[in-house]
Amino acid sequence: MDTQILDINETSISIASKLIHQGQIVAFPTETVYGLGADTFNEQAVSKIFLAKGRPSDNPLIVHISDNSMLELIAQEISSDARILFDTYMPSSLTVVLKKKSTVPDIVTAGLDTVAIRMPRSSQARIFINACNTPIAAPSANTSGRPSPTDADAVYQDMQGKIPLILRGDKCAVGIESTVISLVDKPIILRPGIVTQTELESLLNKRVDIYSPADGKLVNSPGVRFAHYRPSCATALFITRNTDEVIKYINSIVADRVCVICKQELVDKFGHVDTISLGIDDYEASRNYFGAIRQAEANHDYIVQVFYPEQEVGQSLLNRMTKSAYGNIYKE
Ligand code: AMP
Ligand code: MG
Repeated sequence: MDTQILDINETSISIASKLIHQGQIVAFPTETVYGLGADTFNEQAVSKIFLAKGRPSDNPLIVHISDNSMLELIAQEISSDARILFDTYMPSSLTVVLKKKSTVPDIVTAGLDTVAIRMPRSSQARIFINACNTPIAAPSANTSGRPSPTDADAVYQDMQGKIPLILRGDKCAVGIESTVISLVDKPIILRPGIVTQTELESLLNKRVDIYSPADGKLVNSPGVRFAHYRPSCATALFITRNTDEVIKYINSIVADRVCVICKQELVDKFGHVDTISLGIDDYEASRNYFGAIRQAEANHDYIVQVFYPEQEVGQSLLNRMTKSAYGNIYKE
């Protein structure tokens, strides 16, 4: 299959929405990461997403909507907390898990009786969803287990030959995936993101917990089980500002081409190897992270990630880095 990349505009959106109606899948921009979308109510189309990504069938998808009228099509009941979020806060980089309507196919929710719902802040995403005139089920548009794509070229790297169309929009302004909050029971954050615990607690005026697998609490959050964000080369994560330790480690690595990914303030410390700056603060670092990983893996055989969160969003980025480094982690 030929994969076309078209700049997002009225014409390309019209082509994209026709493809969606024909049961095809299309990659599109959002402010978090690029998504790979299908008509939520077309099981065959949704199955193509799992195939293209190599995604395990027990990892549910997020359903994307462009306005509150679509909410009624997928959520069985909209709790008062959900009303607050959808009426006063959306669109946002926030996904809300609610009880699903029986009309939402099982393949979308991996058989759960709940559905994850998001109204993206990106107007490009909402215009696309609105043109499709149906809620769009979409995970990130990467091969399963790989870093999420934050521009159209990264989508092309993974999806070339597997999907008919990529809509090229803005580079993602947020750069990490949405915060996922479940409102099925007591509010609990299943995946941290740019919308923070502090913000959610003040919006809902109540305590909001963050799910941690280490708690041993039983929460249905399938995404936490799977491999995530792995570069194609080896990688390690240092959660520290102590660059001496990192340099010692770099000198001990048996690899020819090492690349350090860190915030701007540390770049000069690693003069003897390649470096990629994540920017000056944790927001910039989140925006640049997945692009930096993809850039580094292209011509290095070891990526050393160095990071120390200084803002709440930095904790969300650290969540991605920790999964990416998969146990090869050094903490101050
Ligand atoms: P992705 O779109 O690849 O970023 O992944 C979607 C994320 O949403 C995964 O972490 C899923 O576990 C989570 N998710 C989707 N649907 C549900 C649901 N019904 N309940 C809990 N988590 C969900
Ligand atoms: Mg993903």
